[in-house]
Amino acid sequence: MREDRELLQLNDYNIPQTCKVCGGVMIFRGVGEYQCENCKAIDYDDYGKVRKYVEEHKGATAAEVEAATKVKQRSIRNMLKEGRLQVAPDSKAFLNCEMCGRKINSGRLCPDCEAKYHRKLEEKVRQMQKKNMHGVAMGHGDATGEKRFKLDR
Ligand SMILES: [Zn+2]
Ligand SMILES: [Zn+2]
Repeated sequence: MREDRELLQLNDYNIPQTCKVCGGVMIFRGVGEYQCENCKAIDYDDYGKVRKYVEEHKGATAAEVEAATKVKQRSIRNMLKEGRLQVAPDSKAFLNCEMCGRKINSGRLCPDCEAKYHRKLEEKVRQMQKKNMHGVAMGHGDATGEKRFKLDR
């Protein structure tokens, strides 16, 4: 069923299904681009629109892209997070670090916060291991604890 969900997600990008000019079937040509099988008119899904605009307007902000393509900034951010969309390193930032708010070009955290996040996570695991070891030590001398353990199995 995972495929179904992925297909639904793809549909969020407003795939053009029929030609705006003649009503013909739009054939997918890759990277968000579609062509009418009758009149050869080209159309784009949201991803294609954003990608094309960003390529032609390097350094555009998310707000500018949204205004020009009518694609919501939220969708643009999702495309970046999913790695479907790449912005040039010298372009204005599209995203803010989710921890400190600093401008970043891809992903969810700036490199500093990503490192901090991992340190925190590692510390959490360390604490959990300490707790578990403590729990096990207590359980050893406890007869009822051992019985319950056997029943559970
Ligand atoms: Zn057509
Ligand atoms: Zn940060």
